[in-house]
Amino acid sequence: GPLLVATDLRKVYGPTPALDGADFTIRAGEVVAVMGPSGSGKSTLLHCLAGIVRADSGAVRYRGRDLTAMSDGERSALRRSDFGFVFQFGQLVPELTCLENVAMPLRLGGLRRREAEERAAGWLGRLEVADIADKRPGEVSGGQGQRVAVARALVGQPRVVFADEPTGALDSLNGERVMRLLTDAAHDTGAAVVLVTHEARVAAYSDREVVVRDGKSRDMERMS
Ligand code: ADP
Ligand code: ADP
Repeated sequence: GPLLVATDLRKVYGPTPALDGADFTIRAGEVVAVMGPSGSGKSTLLHCLAGIVRADSGAVRYRGRDLTAMSDGERSALRRSDFGFVFQFGQLVPELTCLENVAMPLRLGGLRRREAEERAAGWLGRLEVADIADKRPGEVSGGQGQRVAVARALVGQPRVVFADEPTGALDSLNGERVMRLLTDAAHDTGAAVVLVTHEARVAAYSDREVVVRDGKSRDMERMS
C-alpha cells in the first residue's frame, strides 16, 4: 500500500489559506513531483507531509501512523530516522568540510566517526564529488554543494526524501545533473522522493506529477 497519504489538508497563515483541501499519496520508491505556481502551497504541503508544520485539519498517515497525532518529539525522531531533506540552498554547515557534513546525520545517530566518514565518502563518490571531500561548502560551486546536500539527505537510508526546489539555484546543466543523480540514487536505494518544483524540466525526472493550485491538489492516483 501507500507509504505516505495526506487527506484534505488545510492550513491558514493569513487571509487566504495556504492549503485548502490538499490530497497527496506516495508509494515506496516512487518519485512524485509537486508542481504549481509560486504561492500555490507546494512548500506548505511538503512541510505538512514531513511533519515540520502541523496542518489545521486533515490527516497525514505515514506507514499507517497519523503524524498529526504525534508529539513534537515523536515527529522529530521520525524525521531523523526515516526522512531526508534537500532544500534550494543554505543547508550545509559552513564550518564543516563536505565529508563532515555528509557524516553528520550518522554521527548524530550515534555512529563512530570512522564508520560515519567511510559511509559519507562512499556517498560523495556516488554523487561524483569525492574530490571536494575536504573542502568547506563556501569553497565549492553551487552544483557541487547541492550534490553534497543530496549525499547528506541519502546517507541515513531514508524511506522518503523531501526535496524543495533542489535545483532552484542552479543553471539547467547542473540542475539536470543533480536531478539525475538524486533520482538514480533514490531508485537504487528504494527511497521515495517528494519533489517540489515549478519547472517542467525538473518534474520530468519524476514518475508522476501532482498539481497544487490555490492550496488545492489533485492527486490522480488517489482518485483511480
Ligand atoms: P509555494 O511553495 O507554492 O510557493 P508556499 O507553500 O510557500 O507556496 O506558500 C503558500 C502561501 O502561504 C503563500 O501565500 C505564502 O505567503 C503563505 N505562507 C507560507 N508559509 C508561511 C508562513 N510560515 N507564514 C505566513 N505565510 C506563509
Ligand atoms: P517558495 O515559494 O520557493 O516555497 P518562499 O520564499 O515563498 O519560497 O518561502 C520560503 C520560506 O518562507 C518557507 O519556509 C515558507 O513557509 C516561508 N514563508 C513564505 N511566505 C511567508 C510569509 N508570508 N511569512 C512568513 N513566512 C513565509
